[in-house]
Amino acid sequence: MAKKLITIIIPAYNEEEALPKCLQRITKLIDKETSHDFEVLLVDDGSKDKTVEIIKKKRQEDKRFSYVAFSRNFGKEIAIMAGLDYAKGDAVIFIDADLQDPPEVIPELIKYWEQGYDDVYAKRRSRKGESWLKKWTSKMYYRVLQKMSSVEIQKDTGDFRLLDCRCVNALKQMRETSRNSKSMFSWIGYKKKEVLYDRDPRVAGKTKWKYGRLIDLAIDGITSFTTSPLKVATYIAIPTTIMFIGYFIYAIVKAIITQIPVQAYQAIILLILFFAAVNIMLFGIVGEYLGRIFKESKSRPLYFVDEYNGKKETNEKESK
Ligand code: UDP
Ligand code: MG
Repeated sequence: MAKKLITIIIPAYNEEEALPKCLQRITKLIDKETSHDFEVLLVDDGSKDKTVEIIKKKRQEDKRFSYVAFSRNFGKEIAIMAGLDYAKGDAVIFIDADLQDPPEVIPELIKYWEQGYDDVYAKRRSRKGESWLKKWTSKMYYRVLQKMSSVEIQKDTGDFRLLDCRCVNALKQMRETSRNSKSMFSWIGYKKKEVLYDRDPRVAGKTKWKYGRLIDLAIDGITSFTTSPLKVATYIAIPTTIMFIGYFIYAIVKAIITQIPVQAYQAIILLILFFAAVNIMLFGIVGEYLGRIFKESKSRPLYFVDEYNGKKETNEKESK
């Protein structure tokens, strides 16, 4: 029986310092893992340093290594997507070029895949070499994202994971432009398995994230996943309406009891409250429709099938 092929996808952006070490360790690993065939797919995300040269040289030496080079920097999310498009394997594994995710965990991921899990994700037990600010922001971010969404999101999990080709085919059908892979991995579903590991510090080079971009990513994650921010208007409209009604009753009752007609300032407060409530409510309605258009415009498939008449669905038919 032919061995199954596994594609290891490595997005790399200006990683000339870390990449040689990374390739070395990956080569060592795939030499050792003889139970499967490997393809290592490097996605060069428009690097400006020697990253591409390093990759090309590796490809000449070892044909198990292949690469896709972007025309410019498109960001890690898109690099991951390109990796999925070009991967040939029966399963894919994402791993960062900076060796923060130790490749030595890969055999364990494969073990669970062979046991029938579709999405084996590595969960961080610890995060060495990261500032408390980064740890804290990422913790808060998970919390907010989870509150806002109906699908369960794995905590302390990055992109380091193994996906069966069924998941790959599913993800390939989600071609929206603002992507957040974390929430998409959750959204597609399938049998998930958690593996714990210690996240190492970067071997070389600096983090490619700037805080501004992290914030962009966080906002993307929330807005591409849920439309609940659009409901804010509706939530504000309700107390405003209650305030209006309350003050209205108060003004009328007071006028009757004291026999003094409703004062001009009271009328103004009433008018302001009334129109504020009407306005915000209309915004809420527009928001609801906008949310529906937004969901529709992503043209995601409605569902993915796990099994049909006892046969595992591969999701292949509709992909590109
Ligand atoms: N990366 C990328 N494009 C980018 C930024 C990062 O392909 O625009 C890659 C980078 O080369 C690395 C991975 O994404 O392999 C994770 O980046 P980094 O280690 O800088 O992020 P951190 O671990 O600090 O979150
Ligand atoms: Mg890193």
